[in-house]
This record gives sequence, structure tokens and C-alpha cells, in this order.
Amino acid sequence: MRLRPLPITLAPYPDELLSGWLARLAAANHCAFTELLAHIGIDGRYADILDFELETGAADSIASVARMPTALVKSLTFPALSPIEAALTARTSFQSCPNCSRSGRALKHWRQAWAFDCKSCGSRLRPILTKSDDPPVPEKLLRRARGGAGLLEQAIKADRSMHLRRAMRAVTFAMALRAVRGDPVHALQSPRPEVRLFSLAAIAVAQSRPLLKAAMFSTGIDDFAYAALLRTYEKEPRLLATIGRIAGRHRKSGFPLAIESHD
Ligand SMILES: [Zn+2]
Repeated sequence: MRLRPLPITLAPYPDELLSGWLARLAAANHCAFTELLAHIGIDGRYADILDFELETGAADSIASVARMPTALVKSLTFPALSPIEAALTARTSFQSCPNCSRSGRALKHWRQAWAFDCKSCGSRLRPILTKSDDPPVPEKLLRRARGGAGLLEQAIKADRSMHLRRAMRAVTFAMALRAVRGDPVHALQSPRPEVRLFSLAAIAVAQSRPLLKAAMFSTGIDDFAYAALLRTYEKEPRLLATIGRIAGRHRKSGFPLAIESHD
């Protein structure tokens, strides 16, 4: 059955994500996103996975409705990703560009855990949960987080497993200090800026000084953090013993948990 083409069509932006382009198409044709999907014959419940798994039949239908080549429609989805790239590519949006999103754009690279600045306009990507009255993020934390994001990208692009392991260990360490539970790959895609930025910054800090020293920069550590560190460093007994001593000292002194380093 030949589908009725939309009256208005739009060319995709470079790096645009399929779901974002379809949302713009729907708006341009004065219909809801789910109505457009229904017209194409796609169940709205699968909207989130279209960007990752687009069947050829669905790609053909979208192409015919939007009057675009099927290859172009397919190019808006993520290509086959390595396991670690897939783990660090968010299934749903967690950050966006304050400039580009104003025109309804949703770009592919915004979904990557290592994306920090918008490649289209250069603005810093913002977590989707940011509110206008949120306190400004300290410059030093931003600088470090940007550095950590760059290191993470390099490790992934160059397929450097040792660097990646080091980066993920640093994130686990940061999570332990902040008593954040869960998987490090999720912390890096957290819509909560205090979790994501601190995790990225930890990657940069671990690069420039041993984690042992990074541990000493923290002025306090709670029991959960201590347990997490033990798990993380179980293969590094000396480091473990030192962190244990630091933790013990701080527990005794009753310092509050803090995350700042003092250089
Ligand atoms: Zn932008």
C-alpha cells in the first residue's frame, strides 16, 4: 500500500537524529508525533528505539511519506556500535544544546556520554533537568569535566581498553565518594549535572594524578563509599590499604563528606 506523502517535507540537519527529524516533520505538518508514526504504520511505543533499530520496511515507509531517499532516512539512525559505545550512548535524551534545540533539533552526538559541547554551534550541552534557577556550575569543575569528556572520547575512538578501564574506574571512584549507586556508564549519562560532571571530572583528575592522591583530596568518605572503593580496588592491595587508612582517619575526625580537590 502506498502511503500518502506529507504536504510539507523538511531536509534533515547534519547529524540529526531520526526521532528528532520526525518530530520536526510532525510539527511542520501540524500533527502530533504519535499521529505521524501511526500514519507511517509505526507503533508509538517503539519511538525510542527507532534511532537504534530501524527495520528496512519502516525506513521505506518513512522515506515514502517524507519524500526522501531511504538511505538518507537510515543515515539518521545510529550505526552499529561497539559494546562500550552502545553502553555510553543514551537510549533517551539526557542533554541538549540550548541554542540548537530552540529550532527543534535533536542531534545524534548529544546522546554520547563523552559529548560536552555542541559540535554544531559550540555551546555547552546542558542536562535536560537543568532549571533556570539552578546555581551556576563552578568553572574549575566544568573545565575538568570537559577534559574528562575529551579523554573518554579519545579512549573510545582509539579503542584503548586500558585507558577506558582507567576512566571507568575513576567514575566508580567518583560515584563512591558521592554515594551514588548504580552503573558507571549510567552516571556518565545522568541528567543530574552534579553526578555527570563530577564523574567526567574524575576521569580528568585520575589522568593527571594517581587515584591514590585523588582519594586524599577528598576530605571525607562514608561507609558506602568505603565499601565501593574496596570493591573497586580489590586487585590493588596497597592502594586499598592506603584508602582504608584515609577513610579511617576521616571517620574518626568526623569531617563531612566533601568532593572538592584543593589544587
Ligand atoms: Zn548547538
